[in-house]
Amino acid sequence: MITSLAFLIAAVLFILGIKMLASPKTARKGNFIAGVGMVLALLAVLPQLHGSHGTSVSLGKWLLMCVGILLGLVVGAAGAYKVKMTAMPQMVALFNGAGGGAAALVAAIEFAHLTPTSSLVFVISMLCAAMIGALSLSGSIIAFFKLEGHFDKPVTYPAQQLLNGLLFVISALLALVMTMGSHGMVLMCLFLLIALALGVLMVMPIGGADMPVVISLLNSFTGLAVAADGFAIDNVAMIIAGTLVGSSGTILTLAMCKAMNRPVTNVLFSAFGKVDATASAAAASTGSVKSVHADEAALLLGMAGRLVIVPGYGLAVAQAQHQVRQLADELAKKGVEVVFAIHPVAGRMPGHMNVLLAEADVPYDQLIEMESINPEMDRVDVCLVIGANDVVNPAAHEDKSSPIYGMPIIEAEKSGTVIVMKRSMGKGFAGIENALFLRDNCRMLFGDAKASLQELVTLVKAG
Ligand code: NDP
Repeated sequence: MITSLAFLIAAVLFILGIKMLASPKTARKGNFIAGVGMVLALLAVLPQLHGSHGTSVSLGKWLLMCVGILLGLVVGAAGAYKVKMTAMPQMVALFNGAGGGAAALVAAIEFAHLTPTSSLVFVISMLCAAMIGALSLSGSIIAFFKLEGHFDKPVTYPAQQLLNGLLFVISALLALVMTMGSHGMVLMCLFLLIALALGVLMVMPIGGADMPVVISLLNSFTGLAVAADGFAIDNVAMIIAGTLVGSSGTILTLAMCKAMNRPVTNVLFSAFGKVDATASAAAASTGSVKSVHADEAALLLGMAGRLVIVPGYGLAVAQAQHQVRQLADELAKKGVEVVFAIHPVAGRMPGHMNVLLAEADVPYDQLIEMESINPEMDRVDVCLVIGANDVVNPAAHEDKSSPIYGMPIIEAEKSGTVIVMKRSMGKGFAGIENALFLRDNCRMLFGDAKASLQELVTLVKAG
C-alpha cells in the first residue's frame, strides 16, 4: 500500500517536472522535482526487493546494489558538473545509451528466470525491452562519436536498407521462437547482438546535422524499453517514467522534424549531410566576401533602429553569452530595439541557445522564435549573426541540390545589413558553403566571437 502510494506520488512528480521543463523560467525547478520523484521511486522499490522466486535478497546483493547506486550518483554528478555546454548533447547521448543498456540487461536477466508458467505478456515485454534497449545503447554510442566529430560524413553502403531489413526479420524470427517456449540464453545473446548491430547500422548512415533528431528518437526508444521492463517485472514507476520519456521523446522528435520541414523517415533513411561538393561549390561561386572592422560594425549597430541578433553554435563555443548581453544592453540604452532570433536547431541540442542566453540573464521576452521573426526580417535594419551558419543559410530556400533544401532558416538575408561574426569562412555542422556570406548586404567581422563582442561593447559604450 505504502509502496503504491509512493509510486503514485513519484508519477505525479515526474509529470509536474516534465510540465515545468516546458518553460526556461520553471525548468530548473522542474528538473529538481522530477529528481525528487526518482529518489522516491528508488526508495519505495528497495524494501520490496526479493529474488525472482520470492527469496530474500542476500547481504552481498544489497551491497552490490548500493555500490551500483553510488557509482551512478558519482559518475552522473561528476559528468554533469564537468561537461561543457557545447558537449551537452554528447552527454545526453551517453546517459541515454546507459539507460537503454540497463533496460536491456534487466530484460536479459529476467529472461534467465523464465518458467513454463510465465505469461505471454511477460515474455513479449522482456523481448521488446531487450531489443529496443540494446538498439538504443549502440545507436547512442554511435551518435556520441558522431557528435564528437569522429565520422565526418554519413556512412552509406550498397543494400543498406536490405541488410537492416534482413536483420530485423531474423530478430523477429528469434523473438517468435523464444515466445513459443525456447528459453536458451544463447538465443537471447544472439537476439541482443542483432539489436546492437541494428543500432549501429541505423545511426551510421544518418548525417551529423540530423543528430538532434536521432538522439531524441533514441531517447524515446530508451523510455519505451524501460516501460516494457516495467510491464515485465510489474513495476508501476518504471511503466510511468518509461512512458513519459517515450512519449515526450516522440513528441520532441516530431516537433524537430516539423521544424526542419522533413518527415522522420527522411531523417532516418536519406543520409542527410552527404554533401554534394559540386552543389556547394556552385552555391558559393557568386559574389565576394566583404569584411568589416569592429569600429565600422559598431557604427552600423549604433545607427540601427531595429537589430536582430541570431546566435549560433559559435557563440556557445566562444562562451560569449555575457558579452552579447552587454552589447544588447548598451545598444538598448542608445535607443536601438534589440531582439534575439532563436532557430529551433541552432547550436548542438534543442533549446541550446535559450539555455545559453538564460545563463547571461537575457530577458525571455527578448527571445523571438523563428516563425515569429521571419515575417518581420525585411523591416530589420541590421541582423547580427554570431557564430551561426547553417541556420541562416539561404541555400535552404534557393538551392534544390543542397542537402538542407526545404529546412526553415532565419531569413537574415532579408534585413538591410547583415553582419556575420565568425573566425573564418569555415563551414557549419552540415559541412556546406553559405552563400549569405557573399551577398551584397553582408559584412564579415572575422575573429573569435568573445573578443569581437568585447571590442564592440567598448566601441558602442565610447560612441
Ligand atoms: P553551425 O555549426 O552551422 O555554425 C557554427 C559556426 O560558428 C561555424 O561556421 C564556425 O565558423 C563558427 N564558430 C565556431 N567557433 C567560433 C568562435 N569561437 N567564435 C566565432 N565563431 C565561431 O551552427 P548553427 O548554430 O548555425 O547551426 C547548428 C547546426 O548544428 C545545424 O546544422 C543543426 O542541424 C546542427 N545540430 C543541431 C543540434 C541541435 O539540437 N540544435 C544538434 C546537432 C547538430 P568558424 O569556424 O569560421 O569560426
